[in-house]
Amino acid sequence: MSAQRFDQLADQRPGQPAQHGSGPEPALTGPTVEVLQAMIRNACVNDGTPISGQEVRNVDVIDDLLGDLHRQHYEPLPGRRSVLTTVEGSDPHAPTVLLLGHLDVVPVSADEWREDPFGGELIDGEVWGRGAVDMLNLTSSMAVAVRHLADRPTPPRSTVKFLGVADEEAGGTWGARWITDNAWDDVACDYVLTESGGIPSPGPAGPRIVMATAEKGIAWRRLTIRGTPSHGSMPWGSDNAVVTAAEIVRRLTAFEPTAQVHEHWRAWVEGLPVAAEMHEMLLDPGRLRDAFAGMDTTVARYCHAVTHTTFSPNVIHGGTKANTVPDKVELDVDIRTLPGITDDDVDAMLSEALGELADRVELSLIVEGRPATSSPLDTPMFDLLRRRAAAVHPGTEVVPWMTVGGTDASFFRMRGVPAYGAGMFSSAMTLPLFASRFHGHDERIDPASLGLSAQLWVDVVDGLPG
Ligand SMILES: [Zn+2]
Repeated sequence: MSAQRFDQLADQRPGQPAQHGSGPEPALTGPTVEVLQAMIRNACVNDGTPISGQEVRNVDVIDDLLGDLHRQHYEPLPGRRSVLTTVEGSDPHAPTVLLLGHLDVVPVSADEWREDPFGGELIDGEVWGRGAVDMLNLTSSMAVAVRHLADRPTPPRSTVKFLGVADEEAGGTWGARWITDNAWDDVACDYVLTESGGIPSPGPAGPRIVMATAEKGIAWRRLTIRGTPSHGSMPWGSDNAVVTAAEIVRRLTAFEPTAQVHEHWRAWVEGLPVAAEMHEMLLDPGRLRDAFAGMDTTVARYCHAVTHTTFSPNVIHGGTKANTVPDKVELDVDIRTLPGITDDDVDAMLSEALGELADRVELSLIVEGRPATSSPLDTPMFDLLRRRAAAVHPGTEVVPWMTVGGTDASFFRMRGVPAYGAGMFSSAMTLPLFASRFHGHDERIDPASLGLSAQLWVDVVDGLPG
């Protein structure tokens, strides 16, 4: 279906965005549901260990779907397979679009779920299971869109590449990072579309559709804290590494680097339907904290994260035996950086936070870090995403947002390729609902959102000016 016809369809149903649940092209909805169900059932759970994930099983699902289309596999470790396929466009001047979906999912606490997290069943009008919103929903819709484009009598205008990757949930070491480092020519493109967008965010003046244009950087650090071993029966005056680590954790938690009002935060706040006084507070680094006080906790937590480099001490190991004063503690700190913050800045902040205890700590990297990244808002692609969102959800506006978690978009942005978190969700999915299901219990999605996302990818590769 052409972009133009999609507009017309949308126009025929003014004021009824929820009605798009059955359209606009149901032909794409059914296959996307089936591919999603198969991928959920494969349970490609990535727990961070190199042997987990085993995404080869989800690549098999995609291989079955894509059948005769030429595909390239990448498998830097056994079972950690990724897949690339390309459908050539008709217009050599049109930009090449890469649809980027990850194949792995995060672990579950199965006891907390109402339904089987790996059942992939359609229950009460929703597909249930781990990955239903992060992001097997989009990955399946991308694969189905590419199949559809290849089967159509007319080729898409833009060349489209679909890359299904392993290991996104553990930083992309065996997926997007490996492929962009080792096979860049294969995945070179003009735009990348991936997760974290197209979600209706309710507001007093009507919903806004968020699309991710930036994300925070990752600078995880392991802090090794030393003490002196001695007998636990005589603790007075001992040099106990656990005691030192406890004080370090306290200082890290109390540490507040200066708030930054950067352009992505400004763009987000400008579209916020709040009173002028609140606007001013949100754009004033000195008064941000006061603004958070009156907000819903989840919203305030996001607003804080997007305006601060954050430090979260999340894993601690220390001591060996109840009767021995420990001589070593390892503390893993999840550090997320704002645009412009370098590794040296991070180490300087740690030093400031720890004060004289900084001398007691050895710093090392947990994973290779990456800086915060962003993409311009004035591109033909972002324009097109705005128009598509307005066509599906009449009367809404697209707002750019910075994601505070990491995605594979960063590997492309670091090489100068604009990458956006996109997708298209029905009115049944709102940002708070999406956020509660993302890595949460009872993750699930309505089929309408699957069809709308598949249709978006088709519209985008047909709709970009050459
Ligand atoms: Zn994801």
